[in-house]
Amino acid sequence: MGKAYDAVIIGSGIIGCCTAFELAKKGRKTLNVDKLAAAGQGSTSGSCAIVRLHYSTPDGVAMAREGFYYWLDWEKYLGVKDDTGMARYVNTGCLVMKTALNKDLKNVMASLDDLGVGYEELDAATIRQRWPLLNTRRYFPAKPLDDPAFGNPTGETIAGGIYVPESGYVTDPQLSAHNVQVAAEARGAEFRYHAAVVEILKKDGRVRGVRLADGTEIAAPVVVNVAGPHSYIVNRMAGVEEGMRIRTRALRQEVCHVPSPEGVDYEKDVPIISDGDIACYSRPEVGNHVLIGSEDPECDEREWVDPDDYNRDFTRQWTTQAMRQAQRIDRLPIPNQPQGVVDLYDVTDDWIPIYDRSDLPGFYMAVGTSGNQYKNAPVVGVLMAELIEKVEAGHDHDRTPVEFTMKNTKRTCNIGFFSRKREINPDSSFSVIG
Ligand SMILES: Cc1cc2nc3c(=O)[nH]c(=O)nc-3n(C[C@H](O)[C@H](O)[C@H](O)COP(=O)(O)OP(=O)(O)OC[C@H]3O[C@@H](n4cnc5c(N)ncnc54)[C@H](O)[C@@H]3O)c2cc1C
Repeated sequence: MGKAYDAVIIGSGIIGCCTAFELAKKGRKTLNVDKLAAAGQGSTSGSCAIVRLHYSTPDGVAMAREGFYYWLDWEKYLGVKDDTGMARYVNTGCLVMKTALNKDLKNVMASLDDLGVGYEELDAATIRQRWPLLNTRRYFPAKPLDDPAFGNPTGETIAGGIYVPESGYVTDPQLSAHNVQVAAEARGAEFRYHAAVVEILKKDGRVRGVRLADGTEIAAPVVVNVAGPHSYIVNRMAGVEEGMRIRTRALRQEVCHVPSPEGVDYEKDVPIISDGDIACYSRPEVGNHVLIGSEDPECDEREWVDPDDYNRDFTRQWTTQAMRQAQRIDRLPIPNQPQGVVDLYDVTDDWIPIYDRSDLPGFYMAVGTSGNQYKNAPVVGVLMAELIEKVEAGHDHDRTPVEFTMKNTKRTCNIGFFSRKREINPDSSFSVIG
């Protein structure tokens, strides 16, 4: 066995880095191992890095609200400056459209009210007046491109929406992971790259470390699975899947980048839009572009894939998304040459993450982030460090879930909400909205 650590963290994405940072702050000697070449090169690099507050459950909204504060003062959170550069949070606000699917945002508004978050409720005419490039016809429910009714309005106007001023996006998610690595290193954390974990080592019924592809063994009493879309493979290596009621799978996703309509300063004038009526979310992208992602409507087939072998080319999904967005934005140019991102979500059965221990003592997981946990990464780091500390000290988390107070919102977070043993949460949107 080589050098020993208090904890080995598998993965150096944004959540793996934040977990290392918080454990290091507690004085734990950590090592992140990642098979790629640098921090944030996994699914974090493909993230749209949107920081928004509307989730389907009150716990989801509370966590996003807590996360928002970290991005607002990124340098204060890190406590150090990264010489490579610092990721930047851009506040744009977020317009969320009401639909039958999101119950006209009643639950979201109740959660925002409960947290004291300000927002405006807008009718369709006000939306049109404030952002004249948005037409407010109703298209719900979303349809596949080959449906003869595609593009035909289904109603005069949408039911309106809410505008949440405290929302935005981070300019460079990969860089943000590197920023956290630098902050963690300043607290003594170590990172090793080109280091693929191929085996979880066990002794006397608990974890004792990991084996890398080159045969190196690393000893640690705690191992944390933060392997993103490869999470289920690592859980299988550890033999812990049987003890989980909720599981994870890799889902392929395409994100479109298209030019803004002529004459529009999209980066300056248009907020993030979460538009369940056309099943797209969008935000400004550098170069006066519009970034468009899917809100996973029921009519679209879900592409569950092997994370080591999937199609990285754009397909009909790209065109469908761009065409759906063109229903809302008049004169949206759609180039013949698709641009954007093809990447993977790590999705759970109910699109709510798993932040938990496992049935193998010493083996933990922060997985199943379902396309919506970039924004929460700093909070997840705190959550995982609290969980690990309490469980390693003998707390029975499965019986009495660990709770902690979120430092910005002063809310109690019951970590049992994210249990691997939970029933499927019926309040979830079962989409990227969470
Ligand atoms: C297209 C897209 C858009 C998104 N948009 C948003 C958004 O707007 N807002 C939001 O909040 N969230 C968004 N997300 C989700 C967010 O990006 C993820 O939840 C987050 O980045 C996950 O971080 P992570 O550290 O858990 O995983 P990752 O960044 O995937 O890191 C996992 C790491 O584990 C490593 N690894 C895997 N297996 C092994 C092994 N055996 N040995 C060693 N290393 C291993 C990988 O190399 C990888 O670097 C989006 C995701 C995608 C894909």
